[in-house]
Amino acid sequence: MQIPCTDRELFIFKKIAAVAQETATPAYIIGGFVRDKILGRNTKDADIVCLGDGIAFAEKIAERFNPKPNVTVFKNFGTAQIKLPDIEIEIVGARKESYRSESRKPTVFAGSLQDDQNRRDFTINALSISLNKNDFGELIDPFNGIRDLQLKIIRTPLEPETTFSDDPLRMLRAIRFATQLNFTIEEKTFNAIVAEKERINIISKERIADELNKIMLSKKPSIGWDLLFKSGLLQIIFPQMAALAGAENVEGVGHKDNFYHTIQVIDNISQKTQNLWLRWAALLHDIGKPPTKKFEKGHGWTFHGHEIVGAKMTPKIFAQLKLPLNEKMKYVQKLVALHMRPAFLSKDEITDSAIRRLLFDAGEDADDLMTLCEADITSKNPNKVRRYLQNFELVRKRMIEVEESDKLRNWQPPISGQLIMETFNLQPSKEVGIIKDFIRESILDGIIPNNYEAAYQLMLQKANELGLKAVSE
Ligand code: ATP
Repeated sequence: MQIPCTDRELFIFKKIAAVAQETATPAYIIGGFVRDKILGRNTKDADIVCLGDGIAFAEKIAERFNPKPNVTVFKNFGTAQIKLPDIEIEIVGARKESYRSESRKPTVFAGSLQDDQNRRDFTINALSISLNKNDFGELIDPFNGIRDLQLKIIRTPLEPETTFSDDPLRMLRAIRFATQLNFTIEEKTFNAIVAEKERINIISKERIADELNKIMLSKKPSIGWDLLFKSGLLQIIFPQMAALAGAENVEGVGHKDNFYHTIQVIDNISQKTQNLWLRWAALLHDIGKPPTKKFEKGHGWTFHGHEIVGAKMTPKIFAQLKLPLNEKMKYVQKLVALHMRPAFLSKDEITDSAIRRLLFDAGEDADDLMTLCEADITSKNPNKVRRYLQNFELVRKRMIEVEESDKLRNWQPPISGQLIMETFNLQPSKEVGIIKDFIRESILDGIIPNNYEAAYQLMLQKANELGLKAVSE
């Protein structure tokens, strides 16, 4: 076997080889499994291609196992899947494809192994291993995929422009693999992406989002965002992010390039968290800067209120990219809205009431907000970096202290609207809101402690001012 396999994998491949021999159906391992084994990456799915009917072949394989595993058939794709305890096997008959310009769904014919390798997106994804008696375990590499793995190159097996025009999703896959594997896209291949970029418009938003999320979950997402920008794809699929690029200069005063700042922030945060949505918050934190940018004489460049504008843009961007419009979006939106607050805090004296308000607004996401703020420091000046980090450290410390005494995270009002209505025999009304707000503000300002007794006394006092009488009085 010319790739490193576990005993269990070898045991499974030998069973498949036995079926291949018995049914005179040549079979091969192909694609990502071979690539990842050579790269030493974890992989749990193996694609098998056979010269014949993939579904019938899969049934025969399943019969060799005790107990017999389920075979899930995808008739439309001509594929079958067998889930074994530690590995998933997908079987398909080798095919040849022919594309039409308006769709990425090709007409499919039965083909040879070579035909099947020709239709693969990249040389490193076209590697295959024979499961046949005469050359079991041998690598079949018609496009020098091994060399490209060694040179860390993404390259299409055939003419790149045709490859990308046939299925434009491959342009995003090229960039995604370059990001995940830290590979370079070969020049001719990259130029073809630039030439074919408009074809991305025939790809569904969901598939694009899948690739963007894979880029986001990579170790260094900036590689992908930079390639998306340089290829011109970003301008088509996510123009608001592309608008961050560029550093204008007026009267000798410049500002930083917010695109390169943003992708640096994503890399920074990716070293601290695997949370996809916190990474998206890093991506969107300054998205409101282009629409709020102004040059003010004497002041230079300003982006007043960019965090509020950015928070307003967040649901639209999620909808446009077909990201989930649920609590994940709300979480990202909240972090975008609040991302300037800790920095404002640390500029002046940090009062208890400012810390209480931040804890109240950030709720259970206060730690994530601080992680975002720390990742937002991209200054090249080590003194500045040290100063900012020390300030945020102080904000974190003060948050812990205030939280310990006031328990404001996940704050619930100590006096409910229901209790106010019952005490004063009120219907839902303006007065109920006024009393509730007054209690909340008094707690946040530190005028009363965050507990029931103090809040109850304050409710009585405020109700008195409003001319309300308690029922029992
Ligand atoms: P990952 O699991 O990380 O996405 P993978 O390479 O296994 O990587 P799959 O999407 O599972 O990716 O695809 C399996 C194989 O099918 C690939 O290795 C490649 O050979 C082929 N393939 C997948 N998508 C395409 C495509 N759009 N065009 C051509 N070949 C493709």
